[in-house]
Amino acid sequence: MIHRILISAAFCLAGATGHAQTKKKPTTATYDLLLRGAKVVDPRSGLDGRYDVALVADRVVRIARHIPADSAKRVADLRGCLVVPGLIDLHTHVFAGSAPNRFADGQSSVNPDHHCPMNGVTTVVDAGTSGWRNFELFRRQIMEGSRTRVLAFLNIVGNGMMGKPSEEDTTDMEVAPALDMMRRHPDRIVGVKVGHFERPGRHHWLSARTLARQAGKPLFVECHLPDISLEEQLAGLGKGDFITHSFEQVRERKPITDSLGAVIDAVMEARARGVLFDLGHGGAGFWFDQAIPAIRSGFLPNTLGTDLHRSSIAGSMKSLPNVLSKCLAMGMTLRETIERATWGPAQAIGRQDLGHLSEGSIADITVLRMEKGRFGFQDAGGERIRGRWNLMADMTIREGRVIWDLQGRLSQSWSRGMLNGPEK
Ligand SMILES: [Zn+2]
Repeated sequence: MIHRILISAAFCLAGATGHAQTKKKPTTATYDLLLRGAKVVDPRSGLDGRYDVALVADRVVRIARHIPADSAKRVADLRGCLVVPGLIDLHTHVFAGSAPNRFADGQSSVNPDHHCPMNGVTTVVDAGTSGWRNFELFRRQIMEGSRTRVLAFLNIVGNGMMGKPSEEDTTDMEVAPALDMMRRHPDRIVGVKVGHFERPGRHHWLSARTLARQAGKPLFVECHLPDISLEEQLAGLGKGDFITHSFEQVRERKPITDSLGAVIDAVMEARARGVLFDLGHGGAGFWFDQAIPAIRSGFLPNTLGTDLHRSSIAGSMKSLPNVLSKCLAMGMTLRETIERATWGPAQAIGRQDLGHLSEGSIADITVLRMEKGRFGFQDAGGERIRGRWNLMADMTIREGRVIWDLQGRLSQSWSRGMLNGPEK
């Protein structure tokens, strides 16, 4: 009895000081890992409240108001935190190309494990950095060994994003070998990408659409297609296809809102037909002048892809939690924001096994801390807004395995030196 009282006292104090208490339990425990005391937000089920979440191996096996601490081998006290499905970033660049040193020589891709786990991201979709000629290299070099789950839109260009002039080589936009590659890797290739083509013509556009239709997968349009108007692009897209950089405001491209801030008719008609709008932040793809009027009028992006690459991290994008916080600052609710980085993208790429927390689901889980204060958020135009909330990833779990634990919540307390006195 005294032992029980001491344990519960330790939990209360740990919660009050922001430290987590962990315990190793005898192997008779029912669960491998128990996440206790957090507010769970699961947009798919509508779960929104304080729940305990229990895991066995790679699965969530129980979600309940109270699950006893002694039923699990490892326990994380997460009072004050948010537990959400593992975040999915729909728009990233994580393949460095064919040369072995591409990560080091100024190319823009990011090694996913150098950025994603520490930002709560369990799944990324690479937006066409590879094409059919180098997809299998991408799979071997990055996908197979990464802690982050890596999926891909296959570029219509056989060599993917190798820079100009290779990306505008219309002789390297062959449907048949790309379709064959998609059919050989259905577990990883979730769609087709077209973009970064600034010459006249339609071959790239028509080839990419043909490939997507024949594969039965969505088309992902990165809007660097200045010869094709926004209206023509939207008219060529169907239910489930994407436009990214939805709130871009650059000279070469017509924005989605008019001079009064109203979302233009062609965009509203496309949304009504089921075309999806990805935020696609990137280095230049996100402008408050577009996003704030659109969001205020009820036009929310379907997904919150970051367009992760080196310069977007160092620029105004920073990380997916920062983009989520920016969305809160622009007036989206927490649930709307989380949904667009979990269940929204999971559905959009046909991976309904991801992006939700339910008994039996894959244990991809993100633990967020929601700090209250006065925070600044930037756009690509160099402007800033203020927000009251800042989300940070505290712990990231992929398929039951903890791949990020910022505060050592699952470590034993170091007790010998007692630098600041014994932890109670
Ligand atoms: Zn991109």
